[in-house]
Amino acid sequence: MAQTMTGNDRWQQLASVRRARLAHWLDEVGSRAQVEQVEPKLAEDRDYQQLAKGWNALAPGEEAAAGLALEEVFRRVAYSTRPYCQRCGGCCEGAGPTLYPGDERLVQEGIVARSQLVTLRIGETVFSRWHGRPLTLEQECVRIGAAGSQGCSLFDPASQSCAIYDNRPSQCRTQRCWDTSAADQLIATPGLTRWQLLDETSGARPLMAVHDRTCSVTRLRELLPAARAGDDDTQATLDQLVADDRQIRKQLIDDGHATEDELAFLLGSPCDELLQRLTDESD
Ligand code: SF4
Ligand code: SF4
Repeated sequence: MAQTMTGNDRWQQLASVRRARLAHWLDEVGSRAQVEQVEPKLAEDRDYQQLAKGWNALAPGEEAAAGLALEEVFRRVAYSTRPYCQRCGGCCEGAGPTLYPGDERLVQEGIVARSQLVTLRIGETVFSRWHGRPLTLEQECVRIGAAGSQGCSLFDPASQSCAIYDNRPSQCRTQRCWDTSAADQLIATPGLTRWQLLDETSGARPLMAVHDRTCSVTRLRELLPAARAGDDDTQATLDQLVADDRQIRKQLIDDGHATEDELAFLLGSPCDELLQRLTDESD
């Protein structure tokens, strides 16, 4: 039976836009499939059918969320036409991997050096590719990557290769852009902390504990608004905190417990950098 289109049939009116978005996603994921080949598969997709069914009855305020849901369907269906890794480097350039239980040996056996790690402390804001938005950390984690840089320091863009491919961390092993279920499961578990990765007997531990107490990110967050509002006492407290952070870093090096390039692992980012980031966030 021929379908009649009414003035309110917004779903039908958007047919060419949908085709363009599907083409976009096929291109985005590096699929060789053509739009015409994928459309029958799309029509059988249950989420797509639900969206089609409810589209004409959407209230204006519901359209944005429905549009995002539709994009997610296109993304998923496009990936289903390319269910393998084409080693595009997207996983490695996007962010260095977080270390999870099972990855301890990479540090213990020296496959990944302490200088190649950075600790993200409780209270820091990180952009989560998996959640697609910034998150404030409720527990610390350790990532491979230079401080302040997003990508993984073990990725060589020229050869599109990983320096430790055979020993890559569990997060890298589970990352499959066409099926995120294994990675979703992994990131729901707590990551390793620097305390778990450091020798029990390391002389750095006492100073790290002092640093955590005196220079916590949570404390920076608490003090920053009043300091920005012009409260001199709070500003003085913040200045002292930054000075303490510098002093502890220097002492770790002077006492022979760390080299300069291991500080991002042992103590996380310097407090002056964190303050700048927190200021940028609140602007
Ligand atoms: S799994 Fe990562 S590296 Fe492989 S194709 Fe997907 S984004 Fe690229
Ligand atoms: S460890 Fe290797 S596979 Fe994992 S993100 Fe870094 S370069 Fe990519």
